[in-house]
Amino acid sequence: MAKKIVILGGGVAGTIVANQLARKIPGELRSREVSITQIGNTETHTYQPGWLYIPFDLSRPEDLKRPQRSLLDPSIAFVQDTIAKIDVKSQKLTSKEGKEYSYDILVIATGSVPRPDLTPGLAEAGHWFHTEEGSIKLRDALRTFTGGRIVIAMGVPHKCPVAPVEVTLMLDDYLRKRGLREKSEITYTYPVGAVHTIPAVAKWGAQTFDERGIKYETFFNMKEVDTKNKVVHSMEGSQVPFDLLITIPQHRGAQVILDSGLGEGGWIPTNKETLQMEGTDNVFVVGDTTNLPVSKAGSTAHFSADVLVENVVDLLTGHKPSHKYDGKVFCFIETGRNQASYISFNYTTPPVPPTPTTMVHWMKISYNKMYWLTSRGIL
Ligand SMILES: Cc1cc2nc3c(=O)[nH]c(=O)nc-3n(C[C@H](O)[C@H](O)[C@H](O)COP(=O)(O)OP(=O)(O)OC[C@H]3O[C@@H](n4cnc5c(N)ncnc54)[C@H](O)[C@@H]3O)c2cc1C
Repeated sequence: MAKKIVILGGGVAGTIVANQLARKIPGELRSREVSITQIGNTETHTYQPGWLYIPFDLSRPEDLKRPQRSLLDPSIAFVQDTIAKIDVKSQKLTSKEGKEYSYDILVIATGSVPRPDLTPGLAEAGHWFHTEEGSIKLRDALRTFTGGRIVIAMGVPHKCPVAPVEVTLMLDDYLRKRGLREKSEITYTYPVGAVHTIPAVAKWGAQTFDERGIKYETFFNMKEVDTKNKVVHSMEGSQVPFDLLITIPQHRGAQVILDSGLGEGGWIPTNKETLQMEGTDNVFVVGDTTNLPVSKAGSTAHFSADVLVENVVDLLTGHKPSHKYDGKVFCFIETGRNQASYISFNYTTPPVPPTPTTMVHWMKISYNKMYWLTSRGIL
């Protein structure tokens, strides 16, 4: 009987894993000793980092999408279905309609989602760019914005560690280009005692905010939004009034992870080196849904997928998974003014962002176009 590998989730992590795996075991797939099935709840694959550009009219939603099947190696079966329950004891997934899928090896890659509903008033009065719909709504609000107080506020945890700084600097640039900067006040708030959790980003970020006249308030954990008076309150007791509120809502793992009781908050306890789900041998976890002590980022998914695939091959060939993920993450940082920087780090080595340059900005723009090669496991 063929060994069944099921990959749950058709985002960046699940797609890279599926394609890389298919390339590692072409013979086994041809001889039908092994099958790879990806289950995803949408036929369309979206490049989420592109949502950062939509509010500033620098990208369009239709530029960020491809049919999921077009990204997969032909040897991979794609099933569009929504999984409601994962049962790792009986090695079975059950869909919303009650259809069952069994597996020998499971890779869970169900990502994370912003949950504005968890902060009172946020869904009514706030904007965000961590969904396609949200980024379009924010774009429309900015198009009609004529000046006033803009507040940036974060919920934790969230995906893309540098998005708060990026959206703030891109907003500053956007308002300047539209001649609205003098008529606007930007206040950046952040949950810890600095403008970023990564010390080097915090130092550079605060200096850049000072240069660009951006106000900031730290130790600001969004508690609730007073929708009537347009004020955002922090858990620390402070409050900031706004005309336009741009947020990153706190995130949770996918509903199926919560409903299957696989991890608090939807984050699955994962071995930080082998990427196996804790307490299992044949279940692997990749991308945002892990509880790894690293950023939830596409690059984390990419670098950890390389290791995970080797470990799945180890298991298929009767060996103990022996490859180790070192926590590698790489993120570009858009800084506005056609410039960008980047951070690169792992579990043990913290990052230091270099001075932003135009060249790095264009590297990021090029990467946005080349992402489709990454998802195919080529780049
Ligand atoms: C605005 C923004 C900017 C970003 N910028 C960067 C950046 O510059 N660099 C970077 O590295 N990262 C960036 N990221 C983060 C990056 O996009 C995510 O970390 C990455 O998409 C995570 O990949 P994933 O496969 O784990 O999750 P996802 O890509 O979210 O994929 C999960 C998939 O699982 C599916 N799924 C969920 N539940 C089920 C179910 N029950 N049944 C079937 N399918 C299901 C979902 O529909 C989805 O297709 C950014 C994100 C945003 C929103």
